[in-house]
Amino acid sequence: MTKHSHPDAVKIFVEQLRSGHVEHLNEELSPDFLNVREKDLSFEDPILLKGEAYLAESELILHFDLSTFAAMPCSICNEKVKVPIKLHHVYHHEPLSAIKSGVFCMLEVLREVILLEVPSFTECNDGSCPKRDELKKYLRKPQSPNSDDSGYRPFENL
Ligand SMILES: [Zn+2]
Repeated sequence: MTKHSHPDAVKIFVEQLRSGHVEHLNEELSPDFLNVREKDLSFEDPILLKGEAYLAESELILHFDLSTFAAMPCSICNEKVKVPIKLHHVYHHEPLSAIKSGVFCMLEVLREVILLEVPSFTECNDGSCPKRDELKKYLRKPQSPNSDDSGYRPFENL
């Protein structure tokens, strides 16, 4: 079993960053905190986080790279696909005045940036789902004599 970092590892203590101290983060977090277990989207792989936290004037700056996988069904055949989520050089600025307790927990920020990065659909086999050709044939069935080319064809661009 993978040894995950404790979620407290991404709690940033502002006091410890005074006088220019930079806190380095190199964590492997359980995806549980994302709390996303839907039919069309779930997270099963650890979230790798590498970055730093420091103070700049009146703000806490978080700067990090992050990677994980989103598990989603192929939009054609419905097979589960692991979509890589990779983020580089994410910056988050948090005004110190908003950190009343002196402790800033990064989990909510991480959740937000990960969910923003999830594509709205995906396809298995690196974008060439083996079922794609079947689907095309099916969509090219002969049209009725009265139809014209301006009809609504939602799968045209597949
Ligand atoms: Zn597929």
